[in-house]
Amino acid sequence: MIKRFYLDYNASTPLHPKSWEVMQSLLSAQNHAYNASAIHSFGREGQKIIENARKEISNLIGADKNQIIFNSGATEGNNTILRHFSTQYPNDTILISAIEHPSILEAQNTLPNIKIIPVDDNGLIIIEELEMLLKENTASLVSIMAANNENGAIQDVSEISKIAHTNNALYHCDATQAAGKISINMKELDIDFLTISSHKIGGPQGVGALALGICGQSPSLLFGGGQEKSLRAGTENVAGIAGFGAAARSALDNIEEYQKLKKLRDDFESKLKDISPDIIIHSQDAKRIANTSFFSLPNANSQTLLMALDLEGLAVSNGSACSSGRVKPSHVLEAMGKDKKLTSSALRISMGWATKGEDIEAFLEAWQKIYTRMSNKN
Ligand code: PMP
Repeated sequence: MIKRFYLDYNASTPLHPKSWEVMQSLLSAQNHAYNASAIHSFGREGQKIIENARKEISNLIGADKNQIIFNSGATEGNNTILRHFSTQYPNDTILISAIEHPSILEAQNTLPNIKIIPVDDNGLIIIEELEMLLKENTASLVSIMAANNENGAIQDVSEISKIAHTNNALYHCDATQAAGKISINMKELDIDFLTISSHKIGGPQGVGALALGICGQSPSLLFGGGQEKSLRAGTENVAGIAGFGAAARSALDNIEEYQKLKKLRDDFESKLKDISPDIIIHSQDAKRIANTSFFSLPNANSQTLLMALDLEGLAVSNGSACSSGRVKPSHVLEAMGKDKKLTSSALRISMGWATKGEDIEAFLEAWQKIYTRMSNKN
């Protein structure tokens, strides 16, 4: 059996031991997490567990506990916000950036009055374009992510929220890839709505939260139950929420330590360039989350590279995990103005809490092999 190496944390992280510990206990028959809405002692216990987790999540993102609404993840959080604004303000525009996750970006295909904010060649919002769009349109909402899942570029969230508010629009921030990786403080950054997801920070999949600011809006997607202040109906996933809470705590406790990944990433990029001088590394001139490296090998094919790396035991991605399992050219790189040679040949490595130098060494060794083989063929 070949040894396997996981370098795809932006797609989903392995479960952190602290998260596993609390979930394991709650999933056992002995401590089973019962329906948290029940009046009996079992239900009350479940509610207490949820409230503890709510506190941990609010600490991670600099919000108050009562701002947090648990849900099934960031796709749900993003859809909830866009559908809310689209139905509440049908005549107003919603501005979203060209590099958002599909759970925002695909609103273009289903909701009216969506306009796109362009980015520069590093993947950063063109601020003047945002200002212009806000001048030309009556916008109810601006939705721009804090850090991009493909290139890791970090936006100037503080500036963006200021501009949105100056123009009477509210600001939604998809912080799915930023939470736990950089410091995010909803209050200080004046963010009205914030999306996060448990499985990007070491928690289980299928759990997330939408944090609501003090703007007085109460977006809701699901009805049919009084859970989460009637804003998110459906029996709570108590064990999942507890695991999310534990992961949030651990991410916050280790956020400084996390920045050490930057050195590993930067060393990796320099060795990658030594092996393959024609490699193009994306968003290198932007501030990036420490764990992400996104690059293209001109004229190669992402899918072929992914398969070759997989055969060597390396799990990486081309940026976006397409649900069909097929590899599409990166819409993020397209938005950054890159041509087909680069959009179709992109690869992303993303690291996290269990990544070690040996994972990176293994990648470089495999890369050397694959690159040499490809060069000999050409
Ligand atoms: N937003 C961003 C920036 C993401 O990276 C992802 C996951 N790739 C999502 C939203 C969707 O998250 P979830 O898997 O929790 O639905």
